Amino acid sequence: MTPKLERAIVNCFKVRHGKQVVGTDKTNLVGASLEELTSVVQDLSEPSYRARQIYAGIYCRRLRSWEQFTDLSKGLRKRLEDAYVIEYPPVAKTFESRDGTRRYLFEVSPGQKIESVFIPEEQRETFCISSQVGCAVECLFCVTGKLPMRRNLSAGEIVAQVLSLEQCRGCAPKRLNIVIMGMGEPLHNYENVMKAVRLMTDKEGMAISPRRITLSTSGVVPQIKRLAAEPVIPNLAIALNATTDAVRDVLIPINRKWDIATLLDACRRFPLERRQRITFEYVLIEEVNDTPEDARRLVALLEGLRKKINLIPLNADPWVPLRTPSEDRILAFQKILTDHSITVYIRRPRGQDVSAACGMLAGRDQAQGDLLHPPPKPVEESALARLGL
Ligand code: SF4
Repeated sequence: MTPKLERAIVNCFKVRHGKQVVGTDKTNLVGASLEELTSVVQDLSEPSYRARQIYAGIYCRRLRSWEQFTDLSKGLRKRLEDAYVIEYPPVAKTFESRDGTRRYLFEVSPGQKIESVFIPEEQRETFCISSQVGCAVECLFCVTGKLPMRRNLSAGEIVAQVLSLEQCRGCAPKRLNIVIMGMGEPLHNYENVMKAVRLMTDKEGMAISPRRITLSTSGVVPQIKRLAAEPVIPNLAIALNATTDAVRDVLIPINRKWDIATLLDACRRFPLERRQRITFEYVLIEEVNDTPEDARRLVALLEGLRKKINLIPLNADPWVPLRTPSEDRILAFQKILTDHSITVYIRRPRGQDVSAACGMLAGRDQAQGDLLHPPPKPVEESALARLGL
């Protein structure tokens, strides 16, 4: 192949997959599927089984440089090196909490940062990863929603968060769980998120069980229906957070498009394997959604669904004009649910001291410049009035 033709093919791949590495004219192969790698090796006039070797190298063996691909000839490695790289987004900074939680700030492109969180627990370890730079949903209680929505992450940028966190951690995690609950609404980036899920779950690749991956959505109903028809389906978590449309409309504006009844109807139709359940997340906000009436309405709304409920006391934040309920109110809410034989967990904040807890991800780093600078618009008085605050 002439160098000119090779360059044309590389450029075509970049256009299709948008993975050009900043500062070079090379294409990043992290995030490429087996089919895409097959087209790469065919373009290099190599047999297609080479694609399998490259695929296993990137995702199963977690190799980072072409010289580590000792199962490929030196000549092929050189040609790959000339046009392609295997790169994870650089970790701009790490913040470690007193409780062992670690927040990672990745620079995915110049001036665009995302965050992932590593949460160690006794029995398992969790990686919370992001799907977008910013978020368009604008939940009232979430600081990420106050950032401008910049763009969707590519499948490679989603998968690379997991590969990178594994590497920062220094060894394969024990009983790893992955939750797609970081920055962004994953179902607003459906194609890339699902491609990343396929790469993560492929037995020839990263080989993570789909039962160890949870996708959390604010309630994008058409995409929940689409997810239900996928061959590989992660666990589903629904950020419910309210028991009336009047309150949910204010807390999660997407509810005005797909209300609670429509959302729960999609949940009732969602396919579940034996012993699998849908997780309903419920951020408890004082005097907004934490009353005994709310707890009883929640019981009635979720009647008949195979479920567990995660109660998440609001993580107080200067940008969120809402209050965390007292311990008594939280326990009283939980008791009403457990009295109805519902499995319910109170999710205590992890990494709050380094802004790594639920709803706090906003690239905060006073030393390097805060993503929240300039500060977001304050929440409108009318929204608070509609909540009775
Ligand atoms: S809670 Fe999730 S969906 Fe809502 S604004 Fe925050 S990141 Fe977006």
